[in-house]
Amino acid sequence: MPGPSARRTALVTGANRGLGRETARQLAAGGLRVIATSRDPAEARAAALAGEGQGGAVESLPVALDVADPASIAAAADRLRGAATSIDVLVNNAGVSLDGFDAGVARATLATNFFGPLRVTEALLPLMPAGGVVVMVSSGMGELAGLDPGLRARFTDAALTRDALIELMDTFVADVAAGRHRERGWPSNAYRVSKIGLNALVRVWAPQLAERRIAINAVCPGWVRTDMGGRGASRSVDKGAASIVWAATHPTGGSGPTGGFFRDGRAIDW
Ligand code: NAP
Repeated sequence: MPGPSARRTALVTGANRGLGRETARQLAAGGLRVIATSRDPAEARAAALAGEGQGGAVESLPVALDVADPASIAAAADRLRGAATSIDVLVNNAGVSLDGFDAGVARATLATNFFGPLRVTEALLPLMPAGGVVVMVSSGMGELAGLDPGLRARFTDAALTRDALIELMDTFVADVAAGRHRERGWPSNAYRVSKIGLNALVRVWAPQLAERRIAINAVCPGWVRTDMGGRGASRSVDKGAASIVWAATHPTGGSGPTGGFFRDGRAIDW
C-alpha cells in the first residue's frame, strides 16, 4: 500500500451533488486522495464527509470553486499552491443545462461548460506533475454528427488553436445575440455547442500536454439520473460516474489513451 504522500490526488469540480459527488466517492474508494470542490464550500464539505463515511479519503476545498468565475478559480488555485498541493487528476465535472435559448443562456452555458473547464485546467496545470490526467466531462450531445459541415470543419481543423477556438465559441454567442445563428449553421442549443467546444479543446490540448506526459480525454457518462438528467434517465449515478472514473484512473505516464472521447472505457465518435 502506498503511503499518503505516494497516493495520487484528484480534484473534482461540482462535487457537491450528482455525478461529481459520486465520482469523488468512487475515486476515494479506489485509494485516491480526493479534493471535493463546489460553489458552496459547505456543500463540498458535506460531500467530503459522506465520502469519508464510505471509507474513502475525501477532503474539501474550504474556499468556493465557481468555475464560471475567474476570480474564484484564481483564489482556489492560490489556496492549493499555498498548501503545495500537487494535482495528479483533474475532473472537470461541473456543468449546467439551462432552460430556454437566447444570448444570455448561450453566454451562461459557455461560461460554465466551456470556459469553466478551460480556465480551471489552465489554473491547475502548473500544479500537475508528469503522469497527470485531465478529464473533461462532456456529453454525447457534443457529437459532431449533424452539425453544419462548415462548422464541423472549423471545429475539427487540425490547425485549430486554443485562441481560435475561444473566438469560435464567442462567435456563437454573438451570432445568437444578433439573431443570425441559424443562418451561420449553429444549432439552437447552447449545451450542445458548449460540449462540442469542450471536445475540440481536448483535441487541441492533447498533443501539447503529451509533451509533459499529461493525458486529457473527454468522457460521456451516458444519460444519468441526476438533477440534470432527470428521473427518467436510463443510467444510475454509479454507472455514469464509473465512466468518468475509468478515464481518471487509466494507466498514466504516457501508456494510457489521450486526446480521445470515451464512454464506459470505449472510444466513441466525436
Ligand atoms: P447536476 O446533478 O445538475 O450537477 C451539476 C453540478 O455542477 C453540481 O454540483 C453543480 O453545483 C455544479 N455546477 C454548476 N455550475 C457550476 C459552477 N459555475 N461552478 C461550480 N460548480 C457548478 O448534473 P450532473 O448530471 O451531475 O452533471 C455533471 C456533468 O455531467 C456535467 O458536466 C454534465 O454536462 C455532464 N453530463 C450529464 C449527463 C446526465 O445525463 N446527467 C449526461 C451527459 C453529461 P451547484 O449545486 O452549486 O449548482
